[in-house]
Amino acid sequence: MNAGSAKVTCRRHVKAYTLCSIGLALGLTAACARSEAGSAADVIFAGRFVTLDAGRPEAEAMAVTGGRIIAIGSNAEVERLAGPETRRVQVPGVALPGFADAHVHVSALGEQLEMLNLRGLSKEDILARVSELIAKTPEGEWIQGRGWDQGFWKPAVFPTAAELDKVSPRHPVALTRIDGHSVWVNSLALERAGITRETKDPEGGLIMRGPAGRPTGMLVDRATYAVSRVIPAPDREQRERRIRAALRQYTEWGLTSVHDSGADLDTIAILKELLGADELPIRVYVMARGSGETAAAYLARGPEIGLGEGRLTIRSFKIMLDGALGSRGAQLAEPYADAPGERGLELLADGPLDAITRDASAKGFQVNAHAIGDLAIRRALNAFERAGITPEQRFRIEHVSVLAPADLPRFARLGVIASMQPNFVGEYSRWAEERVGRERIRWVYPTKTLLDSGAMVATGSDYPAADSGSPLTTLYSLVTRKGARREPAGGWFPEQRVDVDTALRLVTATPAYAAFQEDDLGALTIGRYADFTALSADPRTHPADQLQDLDIRMTVVAGEMVFGSPQTRESRRR
Ligand SMILES: [Zn+2]
Repeated sequence: MNAGSAKVTCRRHVKAYTLCSIGLALGLTAACARSEAGSAADVIFAGRFVTLDAGRPEAEAMAVTGGRIIAIGSNAEVERLAGPETRRVQVPGVALPGFADAHVHVSALGEQLEMLNLRGLSKEDILARVSELIAKTPEGEWIQGRGWDQGFWKPAVFPTAAELDKVSPRHPVALTRIDGHSVWVNSLALERAGITRETKDPEGGLIMRGPAGRPTGMLVDRATYAVSRVIPAPDREQRERRIRAALRQYTEWGLTSVHDSGADLDTIAILKELLGADELPIRVYVMARGSGETAAAYLARGPEIGLGEGRLTIRSFKIMLDGALGSRGAQLAEPYADAPGERGLELLADGPLDAITRDASAKGFQVNAHAIGDLAIRRALNAFERAGITPEQRFRIEHVSVLAPADLPRFARLGVIASMQPNFVGEYSRWAEERVGRERIRWVYPTKTLLDSGAMVATGSDYPAADSGSPLTTLYSLVTRKGARREPAGGWFPEQRVDVDTALRLVTATPAYAAFQEDDLGALTIGRYADFTALSADPRTHPADQLQDLDIRMTVVAGEMVFGSPQTRESRRR
């Protein structure tokens, strides 16, 4: 990011340009350009723009000042705002409003970038990767990885400590499952965590056990804390390095805006520091952790909205009602089909759920409730209703994986946003039917059904708790109902596919709405931030099956290129 003095100078002119923009909208371009002579556009982008603005669906050029669009239209229309100092950038490919991801984990992505990535691997390959890393790691130090899914294995059963012990007798190993809700550990890790056959399951957690109550090496939800507590925490420098790496990764994926789901005070402090140094390359909408010191601090101080020209906002709380479906932590109204004695985990009881909902609401915060099982979803809706929330508050349910038909109309009625991760269909196609059985499976990830009911749906990836963090995979999954690995071949419950125009809104405009940013983001329109993503082709006409393979050619936030090809970078420097 080359923020520099130019941006600062231009911010002073934003008001004038907003007035000018109104003039432009009324067709008074010539007069407007004249009246602003001497303070012309900072930058003019030329190329092909798909605006997602019904009033002007396509454009050839865009003029930007102070990070906002002051003109968009034909070359001739935009050229009127050029001055001697105006920079020019030729945009490669096809530009769309910047991609947004309504559910990411910034810190966890940074961590993932520094540990083993186990996505899509067989158990043999995972053990081989662990062996390789052990060879380079001093004895006794932790070996960490993330992303495995037993759904890829035959048989698709949970792994054991004994399997890891064979390759790692002297290094403790913790391999987090793809959903982030369970961990596969070896015996040394169990020992370090102090988990024995006598250890009781913590509330909201499960220690999987074999004969005679012996822990097998699989820990679920709150039982994983015993392990995370004994892994040395990253210091401040490491945390900042990881967050920077994550933010850089987002720009490469074409994201201009992400919603960080469950940030703690340290993460928020680092984001603020980056913002202060003008080194926050994209917009981050923070869901602060809705428990502990983070919740206490933000309930005391209230929301922080639109810091740094709309780069950083902290105005919502993330609360966790249940676990994940893959590790049978999702809270179901009826037992699991493949574990008749189990109905999942309740991570937040109704009492504290009501308390945080009421307190957050009173202080002007949005509440975003992680709820995967049908009972957890119902409990979230009930709590929102009891608190008397209005549609204007835009409360959200994150994931909405197993929906009970009776709860469907409540989303539209209460104005509760369904924040969904379409790439989950890949993962769910591997094992969800085993978990919930024939009947309920038809109501797992019913994206189209929710849209048709009038519910607002915003989409994201949940990466690294998912197969892919790319918004192109989200787009592809929405349109094809296939996961990142192109499975299943015919799409998973293909009647839930949506058309590409709808899908494009779900990766741009509706996440903006879910963050109260629809006046500033989500379309390339005069007055909004100049955030856009240039792709190698127009997704509206590209074959649906190849949407995931489009290239990101350029990512621009507030008129500044944060990712792009070297060729383009050169032309900007001139
Ligand atoms: Zn998540």
